Amino acid sequence: MKTITAQKPFEELSEALSGAERIYVVGCGTCATMLHTGGKSEVLDMKEKLEAAGKKVTGWMVIPTACDELSKDALGESIQEIEQADCILVMACAFGVQTVSLYSDKPVYPALNTLFVGKEETPGHFIEVCMQCGNCILARTAGICPLVRCAKSLLNGPCGGSVDGKCEVSPDIPCAWQIIYDRLAALGQLDKLEEIVPIRDWSTSREGGPRTIIISD
Ligand code: SF4
Ligand code: SF4
Repeated sequence: MKTITAQKPFEELSEALSGAERIYVVGCGTCATMLHTGGKSEVLDMKEKLEAAGKKVTGWMVIPTACDELSKDALGESIQEIEQADCILVMACAFGVQTVSLYSDKPVYPALNTLFVGKEETPGHFIEVCMQCGNCILARTAGICPLVRCAKSLLNGPCGGSVDGKCEVSPDIPCAWQIIYDRLAALGQLDKLEEIVPIRDWSTSREGGPRTIIISD
């Protein structure tokens, strides 16, 4: 699974960077490279755009995995160019931005919007597969997540809007509960649909505040 990102509009970045004349640009060699949002060519494109907008780019790098702690060492290798900059523009997911922010005393700006955790279903087509709810129910739903695949995140579907296997939100979107039904039927597990899933305790999800876990040896 990858963190799916999209580039912010350049106008939005220009506004955020209006007080900065000298900028250091950081990309990410993992998810953002795969998504073509923050790999080497996108970093070089950004450098060109910033320079065309009158900014000075003091340097750039593509950290192999921006969210990794090794970012600290990578940033250390370019400390002089970073010191010359008024800020760092990070072309990575929000985790990468926060990691760079942790290891630098320069202001850090995100160049990307972090959209979701997903997988590449077909080349160039990414789909959300898990919202990390903290209480997985895939055993009930034939391995298909209704929380992300159903427009209403229904735990007991389908709703009355499901028509010909499509979601009422758009005829281009498959109804998640139709997919779940078909898969349960193929598995001979349709009886699972007769169990009513009780009202959910969302405290394990992000609605319960920042989540932490301690793993002991
Ligand atoms: S039920 Fe929760 S943990 Fe399981 S796939 Fe869906 S969002 Fe992820
Ligand atoms: S039509 Fe299907 S996917 Fe769309 S909201 Fe209803 S149950 Fe969910």
